[in-house]
Order: sequence, then structure tokens, then C-alpha cells
Amino acid sequence: MPIKVPNNLPAIDILTRENVFVMTDTRAMTQDIRPLKILLLNLMPTKIATETQLTRLLGNTPLQIELELLQTATHKASHTSEEHMISFYKTFDQVRENNYDGMIITGAPVELMDFEEVDYWDELCEIMEWTKSHVHSTFHICWGAQAGLYYHYGIHKHLLPKKLSGVYKHHLDYKKGMLFRGFDDEFYVPHSRNTTVYREDIEAIPELKILCSSDEAGVFCVKSEDDRQIFVTGHSEYDGDTLKNEYERDVKAGLDPDVPEHYFPDDDPTKEPVVNWRSCANLIYSNWLNYFVYQSTPYDIHAIQNEELAPVLQRKSSLTAAKFGGTSLADAEQFRKVRDIIKSDPARKYVVVSAPGKRCDDDEKITDLLIRAAKAPAGEEGREERDRLLAQVEKRIHDIADIVAPEMDVEKIFVEIREKADSLEGCALRDYLASRGEYLSARMLAEYTGWTFMDPAGMIRFDDEGRLDRTATRALLSSKLRNVENVVIPGFYGAKEDGTIVTFSRGGSDITGALVASAVKADVYENWTDVPGMLMADPRIVKDPLTVPVINYKELRELALRGANVLHEDAVAPVRRTGIPINIRSTEQPELNGTLIVQNADFYDSVLDISGISGSKGYASIAIDKEGIGRSSGAHQALMDLLGSRGIQVAGEQITTDSISIEVEARPLRDEIEEISREIQHVVDADDVTISSGLATIAVVGRNMADKSSVAVKVFEALANEHISTRFVDHSADSISIQLGVSESDYKKAIRTIYRQFSLIR
Ligand code: ASP
Repeated sequence: MPIKVPNNLPAIDILTRENVFVMTDTRAMTQDIRPLKILLLNLMPTKIATETQLTRLLGNTPLQIELELLQTATHKASHTSEEHMISFYKTFDQVRENNYDGMIITGAPVELMDFEEVDYWDELCEIMEWTKSHVHSTFHICWGAQAGLYYHYGIHKHLLPKKLSGVYKHHLDYKKGMLFRGFDDEFYVPHSRNTTVYREDIEAIPELKILCSSDEAGVFCVKSEDDRQIFVTGHSEYDGDTLKNEYERDVKAGLDPDVPEHYFPDDDPTKEPVVNWRSCANLIYSNWLNYFVYQSTPYDIHAIQNEELAPVLQRKSSLTAAKFGGTSLADAEQFRKVRDIIKSDPARKYVVVSAPGKRCDDDEKITDLLIRAAKAPAGEEGREERDRLLAQVEKRIHDIADIVAPEMDVEKIFVEIREKADSLEGCALRDYLASRGEYLSARMLAEYTGWTFMDPAGMIRFDDEGRLDRTATRALLSSKLRNVENVVIPGFYGAKEDGTIVTFSRGGSDITGALVASAVKADVYENWTDVPGMLMADPRIVKDPLTVPVINYKELRELALRGANVLHEDAVAPVRRTGIPINIRSTEQPELNGTLIVQNADFYDSVLDISGISGSKGYASIAIDKEGIGRSSGAHQALMDLLGSRGIQVAGEQITTDSISIEVEARPLRDEIEEISREIQHVVDADDVTISSGLATIAVVGRNMADKSSVAVKVFEALANEHISTRFVDHSADSISIQLGVSESDYKKAIRTIYRQFSLIR
């Protein structure tokens, strides 16, 4: 059990004797994983006993914990030696700049006073406010819980008719909670207090959830919706004799206390109490550390400050344009999810849909079937082929419509589609048929939701050459959508002035969504798909990569250019121009925030050091040696001209005085490596030209990388540890990415290694 505590803390001795593995500062420094930083604000009079009790519980975990102790500056401990306090405790001023994965605020013997009367109340309020931005999860105990519930949620404490002291039977109110995972149906916890909080007061706060309680002792544990605050009213950390010591103290003080309930055998205070709460105490703290701290705290501890931004990321929109992709509408069940999403937020007033997509991996998209139908050759056979494919589409639409839009006359619509198709040919036929998937999808969703269907043929205008007429489109969309709400619009197509249907390139519903969002001046353009947002790395290479919470357009472009599969540039441009953020979200997990793509992400700062890793194989490097070549602009130009004339794209280059190294796509070199090498030699009169293929490039993208030299250090450290050598390294001029080359055989390993270095601890 590794718990790291300051060297010489008395708890070390006690716990070592109990066979609990305590790690001192010195030993922990040699371990190479990030310890969890836990701060303990100890308000108990018996400071050393409390330190020891909590250290024991925090130590019961395979995680490495770094414990710091905090005292209030405005109240001097009177029961603990000054020497102990000075040696081991810090004051708030000494820690306020730090971030902590977890914090415990203990109970205090001040519950008979009003909160405001407590001499350190102002300081405690400042600390509790600070926890919101500097601590990932805060665990409040007894009076600490009452203080927290009062400060954060305005819940008052109430005096009990007599002191509650004893060990009480508890049960779970919420059985699925992680904090009580592994608990028995009934378990025991000591309580020792004169005051209580009322269940109704807690239930009236929607962000709070009661996890468990006791018939005799009342509510025991409450947590905030975001899991970042835990409040427990009892003392599961108490030692076997703590209640006894308190009882004897109160007897001595002449307070005539009742004997603690269900504690001494036969309620006889002369008998030795039997402990029946220790296993629960261990479990609650290890569950807290594991599920509420370790599993969810950011690897970069500074990122805890960004958690306060979470509400900003979810900033309420009053007008949202939402586009749903093909997998989100693949069958009736998916339609139901989409309807629920639309209806769950009244801000979603404009919805753009794709055609029903694949229901499983080997399924076909409706658009693919339609395009195949359009391409069926002329003549009898082609005719049959088209009929067969259209019948297949009709069947799929029927299957959905039967459930979501039973009133829709699917047959009649298909008669019209076939008739119209018969009158068309070439591009007009292809685009008309290809567009019907979106048309039908929108018709069904409109009927299902009771919303208005609006055909983009009258709103998205293409010119005679089939190019999008942006000006006309903007004017048409704005005027037609100005006074209507709750509209479903098919994506992917528009029409020329004469009504001929024209589609965008494949995946074009994203463009429709962006055009609609910008025309109605939406607060946000939601792009609903089957992934929970932009992933930090290719999921085929990295298992379950993290979603990037916020990314700016520049980073997005860089990742796309370097091989990541992200939104098409045309689908970004309309909203980027109008400054509307794009929010990529998953229909399968609508509770997640997804990825927010914004113009300027500075405000958000990066929660993680980097925004993503992308890359691709299939590169080669051309290394040219010649004295002074790096200073000769003529030689450089000649090289570029030569490569340009052969259609060879340059991906990057590094120049030193006597050498130039150029990375290029390997494919155009193919069998001509020797010839190209000779030509280069000839053009620049090189001493040596070496072309080596089998190169993969990797880009590590993030904002303001120049300010974060640690990013480069981390990348190279990680690669070096795995013995992966880099063939070249480059920084983009705008400090948005670091590019590096590795051999193709190291490509996947390198991406995994870099990813691991920047993702959460797991
Ligand atoms: N349905 C079209 C396609 O498959 C357009 C889209 O879904 O965005 O390309």
C-alpha cells in the first residue's frame, strides 16, 4: 500500500507497526508515476489521531498518494504541539497556488455555534470556494460536510434534541453509486454530533444526490452531480476507541452524556467496544480515491482549473442548429434517439439530416444504393438493376416509416421518385436520386416530431456550373428561415434556379448544417454523429482514445492535413466566418459534451497539453549533402522546381548549412528513385543524395506549443524510453504542431507512446 507522507510524521510509525505500507518522501521520489495529491484540512482537535486515521484509510489503495496537511491560519490548534503543526502543516497561503486531485475537510468541534461565529469561517469559505477551481474532488466529513452543504448549497444545520453518539446501521439509498460499490446491504458507521441536516433540504437541491442514510442517524452521504463534492455526516474513519474517548472526555467535563448507542457490548462502557465499521471505512475511501479521484482527475494537475470551465463548455445556447449523420438515422430506433435529443432542448430549432446510413458494418448506406441505382446502365438490364436497388431503398424507408411516420405514403413518394428519375439523365439523374435519401429522412423525422419539413431545393442555390452560390444561398436561407422554427431540412443538396437538384460532395450534409447554422445565426452548430467527439488519436491505433474537449479551427485544420479524419473544410468555413462554434456530439452518448471547435480557444486553455496526434505512413526522405547548400537560395529553388515538375509534394524540410533534408510522399517516387536521385545530383551538383522510403510522419498538435517546451521534451522522452528513433523533427512556424518522422515499422508504437504520455493516468 503506497501512501507517501512527510518524512517523520508520527503516523508512519504507527502504521508501519500495523503492517501498512507507508512510503516516505525519499522513496516516492524514485517512483516514476504521478502520485495523487491529496490535501487534508484537519479541523479536528485531536490532530494526530485524525491524521493517522485518515492516512490509514487513504493508504488502503494500490495508488500512490501524496498527502499534504493544511491548518487554518486564523485559528491556532490548542490541543496539538506547535512543533507538530509547524513541521507538518501548511497554511492556505502556502498551497493556494497548487492543485490537488483530492481534498478532505474534516469535522470540527464547533457545531453548536452558527457557522458565521466560527473564528475561521471566512478563511474556510475562501478555501471552499478555492476547491471548486483547484481540487478535483473534495470529501467533507461531519461538521465539514455541514459547512460545505451550507456554503455551497445554502443548506442549514439543525440542533438535535440530544447528541447523536454511537454506531448506526446504514443502507444505500442509491444502489448504483460508485462510492458505495462493494458495500453490503447494511453497514455501520459511527456518528458523533449534536446537529443534523434535513433530508428534504438536500432533496430540494437538484445537483445533490443522497447516496445512503440510516433510519436512526439520518442522511449519511450526499454527492454533487458532477462527483466533485462528497459530504458524509458520520465518522467512518474513527478508531475503535474514539467514541469511547469522546464519551469519557464529556463525562469528565460534567456534560452527563448518554452512553454511545450500539457501541459497547451490552451498552456497558466498561467493556471493550467491538469495531464493525472498519471494512466499510476502508471501502468508502478506496472507492473515493479510485473512482472519484484517480479515474477522473486530469493527468496534468493544472488542468483541474479548467474543470471550473465545464459549465462554460455547456454554455446555454438559445438557438441551436443540429445536424444528424447517417448512422444516427439508420433505423427506427435511431430516429427515436434523434427525436429525444431534439426534444430535450428547446434551443434546437433547426435540424438538418443525412440519409439513413449503415445499421452495421456490412450494411449499405441509402445514399450508396441510390447512387448505384442512378449509375445503372441504360437498357433493359440496367433498368432492372435500378428497379431492384430502388425497391431495396423503398423497403428500408418503409421499415423506418412504419414505426416513426405511419401516415407517410411511402409508395406514392416512390412512384413520384421513379417518374422523375425516368425524365432525367446524367448528372441531373445522379444528383436527383442521390438526394432522395436525405429528402426521405427529413420527411420521416418531420412527421415523427410534428415539425415543419422544408426542402433545401428552394433555399440552397447552385449556379449553372453546379457550384454553390454562397450569396444567393445565404439570402434565401436567411429569408426563408427567419420566421420559422422547429424545422427539419434535408442535408446534402440544393438546386439550381431552374429547380435541377444538385448535391454537394459526399458527406455534404455537414455543409448544409453549417450553412443553416450561419444563416439563422445560431449560438452553436451541433454535429451529431456516432463518435463522442474528436478523438485525440486514431482509434484503430490507440484503444479508446480520449475526446478533445475544445479545439480551435487552426488545430483542426492541421490535424486534418496531417491525416486525421475530421470535418471537411467546406463544412467548417461557413460557421468559422460567422464565429459559430461547432459541437461534435454522439447520438449514442448524448450526455457527453463532445468536442467544441471554436475560433479562439485561448479562453479555454488546453485541458490537456496537446489537442491531438495524427500522422500517416507512405513518406520518403531525400537527404542532400553539399557544402554551403543551405545558404544557396538558388539550389533550394532548383530542388523545389525539380520536385514540383515531377508532381512530388513536399511535406517538410530541414536545412543546415551543408545539407538539406526533404520529406516527400513516397508514392510519386515509385520506381524512379534512382533517376530522381541522379537528377537532383545533377541540378544542385550534390556530393551525396540519399533517398530512403519507409518513413511515417506524425504531427503532435496543440495550441501555443512554443510556450510549452515541455511538450517537445515529453514527446522525445517518451520515444526515447521506447527506443524509437526519430528520423526528422520539425516545428510549424505558428507553433501549432511538432512534426516528426519515424520509420514505418515504428509508426503505431510511436503514436501509442506519445498518446500515453499526454493522456490521463489510467
Ligand atoms: N448521405 C450523404 C453521403 O452519404 C451525405 C451525408 O450524409 O452527409 O455522402
